[in-house]
Parts: sequence; C-alpha cells; structure tokens
Amino acid sequence: MSAAVPGSFTLVYLLLGSNLGDRAGHLRQARPQLAASAGSIVAESGLYETAAWGREDQPAFLNQALALRTALSAEALLAACQATEQRAGRERLERWGSRTLDVDILLFGAEIIANPTLTVPHPRLAERRFALLPLAEIAGALPHPQRGQTIAALLLACPDPLPVQAWAGE
Ligand code: ATP
Ligand code: CA
Ligand code: CA
Repeated sequence: MSAAVPGSFTLVYLLLGSNLGDRAGHLRQARPQLAASAGSIVAESGLYETAAWGREDQPAFLNQALALRTALSAEALLAACQATEQRAGRERLERWGSRTLDVDILLFGAEIIANPTLTVPHPRLAERRFALLPLAEIAGALPHPQRGQTIAALLLACPDPLPVQAWAGE
C-alpha cells in the first residue's frame, strides 16, 4: 500500500485510451482534468493508433502515455482517473468493451501494489505494445519495478503482434 507522506511527490505513468466518438478530443480533455485533480503533467507521448487488443471486433484505439508528478496516494490517483473517465461519459458494459475514455495507472513510482482494486505495475503492461510504445517514448530508460528490464527492453521483447502506429490526425 502506498503511504501518502505529506509533502512528498511520486512520478507516475498513466495510459489514456479511447475508441469511441471523438477519440483525440477525449484524450485532449482528459489532460487538463488530470492536471487539476491529480498533479502536474511533466511529459506526454504522442498519440498512437492500435486495433483493439483482446476484442478485435471493435473500433481502433488511440492511446497516449502521460507522466505526472502527484501528491496523491495510489488509491486516490485511481479515483481521480476514474472520475476523469466518468466525465468523458464512460459506460462499463463488458470487459475490454469500447469506451470513450480509459485511464490506467501503468507505474506508480517504483511501487508494487496488489490489492482488490489496484494492481501496479499494470499487470498487462509487458504484453501490450500499445502501452509500451508510448511509455517508451517518455520513459524508455526506466526499469520495470518487478522485471528489472527497462521499458525500452520490454518493448523490444514484446510479442504482441498488433501494430501500433503514430497517429497524425483524422
Ligand atoms: P485492463 O486492466 O486489461 O486494461 P480495462 O482497462 O478495460 O482492462 P477497466 O474496466 O477500466 O479495465 O477497469 C477495471 C478495474 O481495474 C478498475 O475498476 C480498477 O479497480 C482495476 N484496476 C486494477 N489495477 C488497475 C490499474 N493499474 N489501473 C487502473 N485500474 C486498475
Ligand atoms: Ca485498460
Ligand atoms: Ca482501465
């Protein structure tokens, strides 16, 4: 569990995703909301487009990785991420279903968290090129807290066959 030490900050990495409606607009609106509720954004990747992972009968996703400097605990950060999803009108209908906005915590400093509502590092990070590629753009040299390898090395070794393409706009 992450103890929120007063006055201390944690560098965290989030992955934003959208595959419904104005995908880039949902990501664009999420950034200032997260900055207001969770902490200052210190880096952001470009936008990348990937066919839907796990459920390929869906529209393609746009994804973006953000680095944030937060004073929140991991649990409070998750609540802020979920509030931002709600403001984008997200409905939870089925696992890995289409969504206006998904905000996942990829890394919370070097912490390892396993509780019923939060697993960090994100348990599927190393299997997902669509998460590793944007994360590597802003944090390639960062070691994965459990695996020891850097994000760049995990990307090189990632077996995910879904191509991830830099997105230049509709
Ligand atoms: P995936 O986790 O495979 O990316 P998903 O993003 O579609 O799937 P959601 O329906 O958005 O899954 O979230 C389900 C639950 O996952 C959330 O309610 C939250 O409690 C939990 N969860 C566990 N670990 C994390 C994490 N690192 N980031 C965000 N949510 C998490
Ligand atoms: Ca997700
Ligand atoms: Ca999620």
